[in-house]
Amino acid sequence: MDSTTRKIFIGGNWKCNGDRKFIKDNSEFLKSIKFDNSKCDVVVCPTFIHLESTLNELSGSSILVSAQNVSMNDNGAFTGEISAKQLKDLNIKWTLVGHSERRQFFGDTEEVISKKIKISLQNGINVIACIGEKLEERNEGKTLEVCISHMKTIVESVENNWDKIVIAYEPVWAIGTGKTATPEMAQEVHQQLRKWIIENINEEIASKIRIIYGGSVTEGNCNLLIKEKDIDGFLVGGSSLKSDFSKIILSYEQKL
Ligand code: PEP
Repeated sequence: MDSTTRKIFIGGNWKCNGDRKFIKDNSEFLKSIKFDNSKCDVVVCPTFIHLESTLNELSGSSILVSAQNVSMNDNGAFTGEISAKQLKDLNIKWTLVGHSERRQFFGDTEEVISKKIKISLQNGINVIACIGEKLEERNEGKTLEVCISHMKTIVESVENNWDKIVIAYEPVWAIGTGKTATPEMAQEVHQQLRKWIIENINEEIASKIRIIYGGSVTEGNCNLLIKEKDIDGFLVGGSSLKSDFSKIILSYEQKL
């Protein structure tokens, strides 16, 4: 399987944004975007309290809805948590795990991330697993080392469920900063990750797994990024809250 046969994956991470009006208006907008869902998966990630209304607003469309996070625990005495079982009950098919903001602000360690991946998969929830280096790590030449340490957590958590995982390479210095990795910089990491997967898992998984890029993707840079061989889509924060998202979704046409 080569880059033209991996289905493009475009995720919109709405982070802690949006109100009921936004959910209604933005869902209408998303439904008006004409894209070929056999060529491109589109997944949006509202906050927990807007998951059900977003699902309802988007019903009848091919756009999928993802959680931004999940509890590492099952149902029980865990005040304030949302379990994978509860997401499953709501018919949510995806969740983000390991987003750098969760790592940075909410103490999501490799151990926590591993538990979250495992419990999601056990409940049939697909995972967008986020990895990526901080600026100082890049400057110290540790980009690959950091990404591989994040990959090892994914490998030990995933068991045989590789078809339920999308890897999001998101350099932390590019998230929400307006500093996008150049297509060459992003491709270099994606290609190295795929090579690592060939060497440490196997060639088939390496050729099938989707590795998407995240970090200040806009309508202005998406068309060049997507043309890179090992970039299979995007995880988009800020631009997914705006009409720019439609151009980003349609960037999959550049890959054909
Ligand atoms: C993100 O939240 O995953 C992200 C990539 O954000 P932004 O597009 O705003 O950099």
